[in-house]
Amino acid sequence: MIDLHCHLLPGVDDGSKSMDISLKLANDAVRDGIDYALLTPHHMNGVYLNHKKAVIQQTQEFQMELDRHKIPLKVFPGQEVRINGDLLTALDQDDILFADEGGQYLMLEFPDDDIPNYTSNMIYELMQRGIIPVIVHPERNTKIMKQPDILYDLLNEGCLSQITASSYVGIFGHKVQKFSKQLIQAGQVYIFASDAHNLPNRKYEMRKAFHKLRREFGEDLTNELEENAKSIINGDFVLPHELQPIKSKKKRWGLFW
Ligand code: FE
Repeated sequence: MIDLHCHLLPGVDDGSKSMDISLKLANDAVRDGIDYALLTPHHMNGVYLNHKKAVIQQTQEFQMELDRHKIPLKVFPGQEVRINGDLLTALDQDDILFADEGGQYLMLEFPDDDIPNYTSNMIYELMQRGIIPVIVHPERNTKIMKQPDILYDLLNEGCLSQITASSYVGIFGHKVQKFSKQLIQAGQVYIFASDAHNLPNRKYEMRKAFHKLRREFGEDLTNELEENAKSIINGDFVLPHELQPIKSKKKRWGLFW
């Protein structure tokens, strides 16, 4: 499996705190069936800056440690980029890492509880540059949970989306799990990723998530999500889904009941 979102680099963000922990997490990843991992430290989220050059260097060093410990994990440099007003400048300054080497797929994060009002314009600007944002863990964004049409519109504009495997298996509670399932059902999910941190309840759940997906949605969608991760890291085309809006809850005691 390919994991396109994890916080395995030691000492750079709220993920792994040390090389020992990173190696332990890498072992966990391999045990969960992951062969390739895009390392995506937070960037420009108001707390962490992980500049492109530094991440490339740190990823090379980490790969050397993995090889030295004979851990069969191949790692690539990436970033989880928070949407922010300086993003276009950062792109101009060549300080942004993509999921693919060709610079097409951008792992883009929103604040946990908000979608900034400039989002639509920013997405347009990114698209104009040939960039396809992959919106990470929309299932945990409280604003999208309340107004699922926000995500539906972004996907219709051409964005992709990544659900965190542990959300779908229920680690973040029933509401997030249920919403994850609704998004999958509506064609609004393109890939799973671990978003592994060294935190309690943030371990690898990829295998479990894919098993559950196979059971609930069948072989075709399961294969497709696995293939999509490969396409993204290779910079290949990802076939857009036929998207359905998420139906909002009907009022039981509405006017026409
Ligand atoms: Fe993350």
